[in-house]
Amino acid sequence: MAEHESLEYGKADFVLLDSVSMEDFMANLKLRFEKGRIYSYIGEVVVSVNPYRAMNIYGRDTIEQYKGRELYERPPHLFAIADAAYKAMKRRNKDTCIVISGESGAGKTEASKYIMQYIAAITNPNQRAEIERVKNMLLKSNCVLEAFGNAKTNRNDNSSRFGKYMDINFDFKGDPIGGHISNYLLEKVKHERLEKVGGQIKSGINDGADFKAVADAMKVIGFTGDEIQTVYKILATILHLGNLTFGVDGDVTLIENVKLVSVIRELLSTKEENVEKALLYRTVATGRDVIEKQHTTQEASYGRDALAKAMYERLFCWIVGRINDIIEVKNYDVKVHGKNTVIGVLDIYGFEIFQNNSFEQFCINYCNEKLQQLFIQLVLKQEQEEYQREGIPWKHIDYFNNQIIVDLVEQQHKGIFAVLDEACMNVGKVTDEVFLQGLNGKLAKHAHFTSRKLSPADKSLEFDRDFRIRHYAGDVVYSVVGFIDKNKDTLFQDFKRLLYNSSNQVLKVMWPEGKLRITEVTKRPLTAATLFKTSMISLVENLACKEPYYVRCIKPNDVKSPLIFEQERCRHQVEYLGLLENVRVRRAGFAYRQTYPRFLQRYKMISKFTWPNHDLPSDKDAVKKLLQGCGFEHDVAYGKTKVFIRTPRTLFSLEEQRADMV
Ligand code: ADP
Ligand code: MG
Repeated sequence: MAEHESLEYGKADFVLLDSVSMEDFMANLKLRFEKGRIYSYIGEVVVSVNPYRAMNIYGRDTIEQYKGRELYERPPHLFAIADAAYKAMKRRNKDTCIVISGESGAGKTEASKYIMQYIAAITNPNQRAEIERVKNMLLKSNCVLEAFGNAKTNRNDNSSRFGKYMDINFDFKGDPIGGHISNYLLEKVKHERLEKVGGQIKSGINDGADFKAVADAMKVIGFTGDEIQTVYKILATILHLGNLTFGVDGDVTLIENVKLVSVIRELLSTKEENVEKALLYRTVATGRDVIEKQHTTQEASYGRDALAKAMYERLFCWIVGRINDIIEVKNYDVKVHGKNTVIGVLDIYGFEIFQNNSFEQFCINYCNEKLQQLFIQLVLKQEQEEYQREGIPWKHIDYFNNQIIVDLVEQQHKGIFAVLDEACMNVGKVTDEVFLQGLNGKLAKHAHFTSRKLSPADKSLEFDRDFRIRHYAGDVVYSVVGFIDKNKDTLFQDFKRLLYNSSNQVLKVMWPEGKLRITEVTKRPLTAATLFKTSMISLVENLACKEPYYVRCIKPNDVKSPLIFEQERCRHQVEYLGLLENVRVRRAGFAYRQTYPRFLQRYKMISKFTWPNHDLPSDKDAVKKLLQGCGFEHDVAYGKTKVFIRTPRTLFSLEEQRADMV
């Protein structure tokens, strides 16, 4: 029998809860976790709770159980939606995507890997060598990206420090022929969450075996010897930069450990005096004159740190770019393999709320507002269109449309990002307080924005420091401290020129804007906010033209224990992931729909009127007769070509009756 209705494990689908209350939701989630049922559904959304132990549910036998099945035929599993996405892609020629979200340590990256493994396992039945090669590349690229993009943090021993979106391209046979990776979010900024940049690098490759695995992977993927050497040189430079200290002699700023400078010079293939100069001076153009301005020790330290972060960020982006060059489907491939379709997998942060929320949380939460907006649009749009097509009356769905918050952040001229950019371009004072004043001026009347100035009675907000946004998933207070700095490209042009002028060609190409002479640098570099906004908009555009599937990951406790379900901790996540909202939207519509012939094909054995064949005027009449006989009339609607079932409970019941017959 299907697991679905066995109450011992709770409700496999949250849509089936007796009431949509937080209490019921949490009780069910907890029960399932304790019974080792880490996956559940909200309709077609998978809710996953990190088990923090090895589960015996990803093997070949499990894969076989899910292969080619319908979603409701088997207990909830990642494989079920991986299969659904794959089937939609293969049978219906649809581009699909799987969006995985949740907080750090919730299990997103593991989930994305299981999904990739599932797809790898069910494709290429003929073992074509070329396809096997592509699969190997796609899996290996992950290993390299993790080595450079992940780090040990308090929250997760192997925490991805970047949002990742990967397209996998398939040929007309449904076999993978290539891929493309995009990395999102602000690397430079996020590194600051870690204790030291050095820690970031070490943790990825400190272990001998890991190091070898990464080195091998880079070779297999096709990085050249020069490229790999340059990667190591950049890493070494960053570590040495971390040890560099500055002092003063009279009014001269100097480098205390000059020996390091020659080591760095060597690593960067540049002249020693250039390194020293870039670290200690800043070239500024005043009208037609170009002068060299000496840094204070503070400025020099700031420059050094900015350089280390920027070098790492560039390196990472360059690695992603190189991997893409190699795995990308070429024109030639398309010719050989025919038309191609895509499955995208997005592994990205969920809503974040900390004790102290800054620019990073602001960006991440904006990203989640965008994804929520997409979710609403796609789910509701798809539903609406289908109901219209099928001639089923549209029932208004009561949900919160978060477009207003998306606008609050990204709108031109008066959105928060725009106000931030404007504050950064101020000719006079450029401070975080000026930014907050700008917000107060522009957003005083906004229903989702407030600050102490705007609501003086609210003692939880500090003057000149905090603003609060009412996000779809809850209220978050952000401190403006650091916003300006994190938004500006803080790397002195001198460093860009230094690296561009390296005789190492691999390093040089990472710094194209170093080509500009000081008098030519007129345009301000794009701000972090603008870059992020642009990348989010294009991400959402890309996802919007695909059929989406969702995985929502939950972290059960902060101590990586398989036994503890921290009620309060989980409740927060359920809130921030908008899961209750999700259940509501889902319950308002129809959970399941199927064309009449296919419905009959699957369930005709349930009714004596339809088994083995029916003599009614149409399949539609036969389905009606069948469902009337089961007493499900109240829960269904009949469209032109499809039958619509409101709650999955009805479907599960049909499945069980069917199982009893066959
Ligand atoms: P995220 O990407 O959301 O930050 P990860 O996917 O890296 O989180 O998961 C964090 C850790 O949790 C993993 O290193 C692993 O130890 C454990 N984990 C996550 N998902 C599973 C799973 N399905 N089975 C067993 N352990 C898991
Ligand atoms: Mg991760």
